[in-house]
Amino acid sequence: MRRSLVAGNWKMNGSFESSTELLKALVSGLGEGESKAEILVCPPFPYLALAQQVLSNSAVGLGAQNLSEQSAGAFTGEVSAAMLKEFGVSYVIIGHSERRALYAESDDFVAKKFAAAQVQGLCPIICVGETLEQRESGHAETVVCEQLDAILDQCGVKALAHAVVAYEPVWAIGTGKTATPSQAQQMHSVLRAAVARRSTQVAGQLRIVYGGSVNARTARELFAQPDIDGGLVGGASLKAEDFISICKSVS
Ligand code: PEP
Repeated sequence: MRRSLVAGNWKMNGSFESSTELLKALVSGLGEGESKAEILVCPPFPYLALAQQVLSNSAVGLGAQNLSEQSAGAFTGEVSAAMLKEFGVSYVIIGHSERRALYAESDDFVAKKFAAAQVQGLCPIICVGETLEQRESGHAETVVCEQLDAILDQCGVKALAHAVVAYEPVWAIGTGKTATPSQAQQMHSVLRAAVARRSTQVAGQLRIVYGGSVNARTARELFAQPDIDGGLVGGASLKAEDFISICKSVS
């Protein structure tokens, strides 16, 4: 039985003050047992210490949005997996489409970050997803499977036993255009089958979450699909009421 995960990706939003308010509202609205899901927020780096403090002894865990593929050294501006661990981070988002598109992160580079996270015991949330053009030209499944294969080939299928996959169609991110439950379920089952070809055990245990304009209205039906194990939530995770409602949509 897979326990669903709902993770909030705050991206580069908020201030010290608004983050404090949001964190406190989540702690009071998501006490132990309020949601059946495991819950996580991924604030910007400067607010990790604040989040660690406010979330201590709460039902809300802590993730990061990015990390360096390097472990330490002369890499100005980078943040290592070991540093993240010191702030109570247990998950890290890898290969988000914004990083792939805006910072030219290749499949190969994403796989290096995946490995760097796991060396320190962080659980990577590996994002895969196709653009609208790729979907419309019939290449969506090939594209997402290639993105996942880069991890499987470089890190091995067993590495996925300690990871989460996020299916995030690029055309649904921040656009208000959510994939339909059946579109999302179809891709999640394709991804699970791709892992099952290497290990049915890992595939059966793997959490595959959906991301792309999830909101309080669409979450319940998406999360009810057999291969959808929760969500990665961007915009709606910045509003406590909406995020709490999404977390409670897991049945
Ligand atoms: C995301 O960026 O991971 C995301 C899913 O964003 P949004 O929910 O805003 O589409």
